[in-house]
Amino acid sequence: MILQNHLPCQTSEFPCKYLGVPLSPHKLTNAQVQPIVDRIADRLPGWKADLLTRAGRCTLVQFVLTSMMVYLLLAVDLPARALKSIDKIRRGFLWKGRRDVRGHCLVAWPKVTRPWFLGGLGISHLQHLGWSLRLRWLWLQKTEPDKTWAFLPVKAQHQVQAFFDAAVVTVVGNGKNTIFWKDRWLTDQSLETHDPHMFNAVTARGRKRKVSDALENRSWILDIKGALTVEVLAEYLQLWDLLEGVELQSEIEDTHIWSFSASGNFTTKSAYEALFIGSIHFEPWERIWKTWAPSKCKFFLWTVAHKKCWTADRLARKGLDHPASCPLCAQAEETIDHLLVTCVFSRQIWFTVLQDLGLETLAPQVVDMSFVEWWAAASSRVTGQNQKGLNSIITLVSWSLWNHRNRCVFDGISPNLAYVAASIKEEARQWSIAGARGISHLLAPAAAVT
Ligand SMILES: [Zn+2]
Repeated sequence: MILQNHLPCQTSEFPCKYLGVPLSPHKLTNAQVQPIVDRIADRLPGWKADLLTRAGRCTLVQFVLTSMMVYLLLAVDLPARALKSIDKIRRGFLWKGRRDVRGHCLVAWPKVTRPWFLGGLGISHLQHLGWSLRLRWLWLQKTEPDKTWAFLPVKAQHQVQAFFDAAVVTVVGNGKNTIFWKDRWLTDQSLETHDPHMFNAVTARGRKRKVSDALENRSWILDIKGALTVEVLAEYLQLWDLLEGVELQSEIEDTHIWSFSASGNFTTKSAYEALFIGSIHFEPWERIWKTWAPSKCKFFLWTVAHKKCWTADRLARKGLDHPASCPLCAQAEETIDHLLVTCVFSRQIWFTVLQDLGLETLAPQVVDMSFVEWWAAASSRVTGQNQKGLNSIITLVSWSLWNHRNRCVFDGISPNLAYVAASIKEEARQWSIAGARGISHLLAPAAAVT
């Protein structure tokens, strides 16, 4: 009532909405979350989706749908079922431009939702995004205890709290903003983990004690109330020794350091990426994503690197109709590596295109069996603008070979070396005009290198 007198606004019962975010003292139910899922689905362009390439739809998923989620996930922990429904919408839109997409995903969703350098498309993993966004509250509570809300309990899931505890190290100054048992300040673990038996014997109040309080007159000892077993005594003596050398510095504040960023400050990006630690690095990611080329071509090379193009070998494995032999040379079984490097037709194209640029020594040889490995080796033999240009040209030639292959398969045309070489030349000129500086550099006279 008093509040209402000062802030004349409408009062309503929980659950309610505040600034578009659903609020409830309890965990949100699926029914309460459904309008959010529907709103996300409404954001997708309906019939226009067919006009977008996969690369275009990927950008929409990355930036439009995900940015809506950032706002919500910063504040609320959505139920797993809601995240699953939202993922279903994002997945369907990416691969097919509609909601239902069964059987059309080229690359599995857990792989798609990794950062680029781990082989994904940079589409956010919603669960991880939510965790890293909400870690911010724990960090602010720890590092800015003067904030008006800092004394309120911050509700964090078990995993989020555990991750936070593992990620923050404290350098003690006056010990006034460091929890004696829970923070990592004395050893590379918290004392709770370092001395588990003794921690079990500490009173609930004692567990919250700050380092400055605990060390004053050794009051941490008075907090041990449980049974003094052999283990407790052993840990007690060990801790006594450890604390021997500790001296607080009254004029210096405690400093909390976030281990996953160079500055020591928390950032959502560093937290998000740290949640993928241990995943395998995706070697070709820079060559694919940082090369100047239209996104549809880069997206194609990403599927090549994951070996997910619908070449004859893959179609055969799935029991689908497939060309009996390579549509370009009719001499070998068609795999993506054959099509892009070992095929006689393709090797002829590579040689012709690279010879024009004075780079023919980099063309694939009979011994080169894998497209990705050949690309890595060729690219490492040039530097600077030449390397940038070469990477763009390799993207362009691969894309053109794939398109020509598709025209042979679906439109019934015959493979035509002169036609492909000429169209690559023309396209390279256009990429150069459109801003591919590496290609402009290679096309300029006297730029040739080996
Ligand atoms: Zn072939």
